[in-house]
Amino acid sequence: MGKISPFAAFADERSAHRYLEEVLWPNGTVCPYCGSKRVVRLIGNSLRTGRFKCLACQSGFSATHRTLFEDTSVPLRKWLVAVYLTRGGNARVSPQHIARVAKVSPLVAAKMLRRLQQAANLAPRVSSSSRPDILAAILVSFTQALP
Ligand SMILES: [Zn+2]
Repeated sequence: MGKISPFAAFADERSAHRYLEEVLWPNGTVCPYCGSKRVVRLIGNSLRTGRFKCLACQSGFSATHRTLFEDTSVPLRKWLVAVYLTRGGNARVSPQHIARVAKVSPLVAAKMLRRLQQAANLAPRVSSSSRPDILAAILVSFTQALP
């Protein structure tokens, strides 16, 4: 599996999930419930994108499990755009700008910004950088901040 550019990750849900999976599980997918690596990707049009099943404990999960991207109707690729534009909630970006680039309503954009800023307050600060892989660094810092 080759490295996915964050810009490709913005293209569609499948790429967005693959990108997050590579960032969060650099050594292979791990079940967040029992720690087993005996997991299979669920494939099928009727299933939500990025779902896995653990063969050890039978749990279903995706890379968004216990991240700020969980329990939201906003597609992951739009979240990744917002994370990138705001440098993980640390940069001042207007909801209107997020709305325009991520193609969400200004109201949704404002909610996304609030959630990102809350996560940024918990996460270790990622040093400022213009490199595209700052997205990966931010996402890792978010997961490290989880209790
Ligand atoms: Zn498991």
